Amino acid sequence: MRRLGNIVFLLSSNPGKYILDTRDEKAYICDMKAPRTLQEAIVYFSDPQRAFDYAVSLRWPDGKVHCPRCSSESNYAITSKTRKGTLRKLWLCRGCNKQFTLKVNTIFEDSPIGLDKWMTGFWMLVNCKNGVSSMELHRTLGITQKSAWFMMQRLRTALHNRSFGSTTKLGGPDTEVEADESFIDGLTKNMHKGRKLRLVQQGGIHGGKTIVQGILDRNLRQVRATVVPDVKRETLQNQILKNVKYGTKVYTDDAVAYEGGMNWRFVHDVINHSEAYVRGQVHTNGLENFWSLLKRGLRGTYVAVEPFHLFRYVDEQVFRYNNRKHADRTPMNDSDRFKLAMSQVAGRRLTYSELTGKDESPRHVPTGTGETQQVPF
Ligand SMILES: [Zn+2]
Repeated sequence: MRRLGNIVFLLSSNPGKYILDTRDEKAYICDMKAPRTLQEAIVYFSDPQRAFDYAVSLRWPDGKVHCPRCSSESNYAITSKTRKGTLRKLWLCRGCNKQFTLKVNTIFEDSPIGLDKWMTGFWMLVNCKNGVSSMELHRTLGITQKSAWFMMQRLRTALHNRSFGSTTKLGGPDTEVEADESFIDGLTKNMHKGRKLRLVQQGGIHGGKTIVQGILDRNLRQVRATVVPDVKRETLQNQILKNVKYGTKVYTDDAVAYEGGMNWRFVHDVINHSEAYVRGQVHTNGLENFWSLLKRGLRGTYVAVEPFHLFRYVDEQVFRYNNRKHADRTPMNDSDRFKLAMSQVAGRRLTYSELTGKDESPRHVPTGTGETQQVPF
């Protein structure tokens, strides 16, 4: 037996040969702790049983496997053989007499791709600062680019934040919140003229730009961001009303949309960007930082984002931004961020037809609102 770090390699029956040096011998990697780096994650999840156990422990943390359809805890595990001859683990529910697998009612549902690839892909997505392109994932995981793209969009669905809940708002008396919009351009550069026109008519884009509104709580260091159809007063102020507690100090630029009405419920202060960018505490530089991260990902990694998919990329960046640190401000490591992301995969689904549906209007439940159901995964 040979120990390398926290990985133990059992030697093969063939003396003088280490298992990882050979192709014909089976490698046994056991006694391995939860992965901390991408390299460790790949090795860790390469064992299907371990990847399975890991996902089971996250989906049912109390160890009680219950049916995703009828919630019954009465079930028994069975193993079936797939057409390819690999073993598939599932449970038969005594409550509804139906079978279910680990993937049922999660973003992984109906996916033929193995958990090892899903987990490695997820690790990369949540931990690479500028995101990962589907081309990169296609090469890394050995799946088609189309599969990689669909996989990433499903993973982004899991990243959509619901931990705030629909009733929790940002801010509060004596706390400071920044609000700002960013115009994302270039998304329609290669788009067919007719489609572009249709989008403009639907109100999805403005002069080739898509608008994202962001709200940053300086105290919590949490951002909420969403694609908005326009920069009208009603639209932008409504988002602030929905997401910020009354009495909060709200800092914005001098956009007309923020004029009037804001001081009824908030302590509103404005920084006029033609004069200065900072006046004491009054600035929107925290959000500027977020916009530059978002744009770096969109320009550098995801070069061909359709406007109606933009909100998914916004969700992805919001997740990484909000989870740089724990609540006590200690840095969050890659392993913690991955576990947190994995804990959000249940109770959400995204089918291919939903993803590529005909309805191209940008629709987005703003991050942190609209969802009340908490699924423990
Ligand atoms: Zn059932």
